[in-house]
Amino acid sequence: MPVVGVIAVQGDFEKHIEAIGRLKIPDLDAREVRTPEELQRVDRVIIPGGESTTVGLLMERYGLGAALKELAKKGMPIWGTCMGMILMAKQVEDRKQYTLDLLDITIQRNAFGAQVHSFEDEVKLAGMKDPVVGVFIRAPIVTRLGKGVEPIGKYRGKVVAVRQGNLLGTSFHPELTEDTRLHEWFLTF
Ligand code: GLN
Repeated sequence: MPVVGVIAVQGDFEKHIEAIGRLKIPDLDAREVRTPEELQRVDRVIIPGGESTTVGLLMERYGLGAALKELAKKGMPIWGTCMGMILMAKQVEDRKQYTLDLLDITIQRNAFGAQVHSFEDEVKLAGMKDPVVGVFIRAPIVTRLGKGVEPIGKYRGKVVAVRQGNLLGTSFHPELTEDTRLHEWFLTF
């Protein structure tokens, strides 16, 4: 059974650990990861929602970013939700900030307007019969898709979920709903 590591520098990492717990898969372990050493003991990684500027800075400073990049290139499955997807992107629009440079996408932060910081709505995802409830909290959108990046979900015409091989990114927060289908799917990567 895989061990899921959730990057626990800042943000809603506990919610992902709870979501994995709700899957009720015997022997499946989900644990917090803060150091490059802890990262070596997990099989896959979730980067939660939070504040991408702060977390990027800390990941760069303590070597967690470099270690994660190396494992991702060897094929480790990595899923970023909201901030996590921003940190996985190659480029962030109109800003210079540290990212892991993994998903070949350009991202626009806080893309749904200053007046609507947070909302929920249904999102249809490729390969899923019923829509998921997308919880968008100062959510980003994907404005450029590189070669090999599949858009797997759109909301109001904007790309809000992508997959590139072992890498998954969602603008919204499935860990804040009772629906565990995305967590289950990620375990098959
Ligand atoms: N707006 C945040 C950022 O740019 C992301 C918000 C979130 O993860 N919910 O880092």
